[in-house]
Amino acid sequence: MNAGAPILPPATIGILGGGQLGRMLGLAARELGYRVAVLDPDPDCPAAAIADRVEIGAYDDTAAALRLAADVDVLTYELEHVSAAMVATVAEIRPVRPGIRSLQVTQDRLAERAFLGEAGAAVVPWRAVHTVDDLRVAASELGFPLRLKASTGGYDGRSQFRIADNTAMVGAIARLNAHHGQSLLAEHEVEFTAELSVVVARGADGSLATYPVGRNRHDEGILVESVAPAPIDPDVAAAATALARRLADAVDLVGVMTVELFLMPGGGLVVNELAPRVHNSGHWTIEAAITSQFEQHVRAMCGLPLGSTVLRAAAATVNLLGTGARRPARLAGLEDALALEDVHLHVYDKREVFERRKMGHVTATAATIELALGRAMAAHAMLRWSEEG
Ligand code: ATP
Ligand code: MG
Repeated sequence: MNAGAPILPPATIGILGGGQLGRMLGLAARELGYRVAVLDPDPDCPAAAIADRVEIGAYDDTAAALRLAADVDVLTYELEHVSAAMVATVAEIRPVRPGIRSLQVTQDRLAERAFLGEAGAAVVPWRAVHTVDDLRVAASELGFPLRLKASTGGYDGRSQFRIADNTAMVGAIARLNAHHGQSLLAEHEVEFTAELSVVVARGADGSLATYPVGRNRHDEGILVESVAPAPIDPDVAAAATALARRLADAVDLVGVMTVELFLMPGGGLVVNELAPRVHNSGHWTIEAAITSQFEQHVRAMCGLPLGSTVLRAAAATVNLLGTGARRPARLAGLEDALALEDVHLHVYDKREVFERRKMGHVTATAATIELALGRAMAAHAMLRWSEEG
């Protein structure tokens, strides 16, 4: 592959999406001397505070994206739910990395499953569902419990629900009838031993780098905790790493991608999903790896050499989720939490807090993942969102 000339600072990086991922990506870009411009519908989005420029527009506002692109040197996206048509139009005037293929493959669960099948990756047994009949067939062939997931647009466990048995099917069918023509994926709910993820980086020249495998814990579909290195058999870690590298090549990645995996009781690995971008399960790389996933993404997209992915220490990240009713976000308990050793607090500066919103995270580093997790959880327990706002 022709890598072309590197894009050097003070070039401007355009980020489609201004959430916490765009914010942390922008901070890493700034450290290297790049300028940052962001597209987001919300002028007070988390990335606004660190951006040179915010273009206000929805994630499918092609005119706004073209205005953003006009004054940047290269673009990326911080979520895979940006419109592929918009990205394709922008890509005609500026490089977008990772490219349109990574986006198309990962923004639609059914396309992603087809890609994973072609790439020879194991997945949970699944069926495409468009009609009530499809759902009935899927239920009889796959068996309960089932997970029914919207093909596009889901994140943090939204847009998916569990069908435990035939009684629950009634509600699922009613929902399906209400949203006619929806494209869904039904899959068997598996009992995994652990959830793992691999952050893989691929440069414009095809060079590859992978971080040590992380182990994740979700609560009702939302990530609550990640630790690294995952306490798993070295053969499993090697297999997960090899799989991630293979998928990065297959999707022609330029940038970082996270491969979410289920580790099955027999030691087998199945791919849950791919995210061709910086990812919540790699936040520990900021403190614990020589190069953070954010810097790595910037390096890859700008055609610079990939950085070392070696760990400085074991690490644990615990997400700081919102609680209670929607109100102005005021965090309390910092004085206690920050008094703990080796604890790092990241607050995304979202104006409002509400139940289960991702508001920040705590990362702790230590000699072992148990110590790191203990510290991160202790700090997390001291933090709370003020009621009065
Ligand atoms: P995100 O994009 O934030 O990762 P999402 O909404 O795209 O989330 P998934 O990754 O598909 O959703 O699912 C979220 C979590 O729900 C998984 O990490 C896992 O914990 C659980 N889950 C999803 N599918 C299954 C399944 N088939 N069997 C068991 N658990 C599942
Ligand atoms: Mg997921």
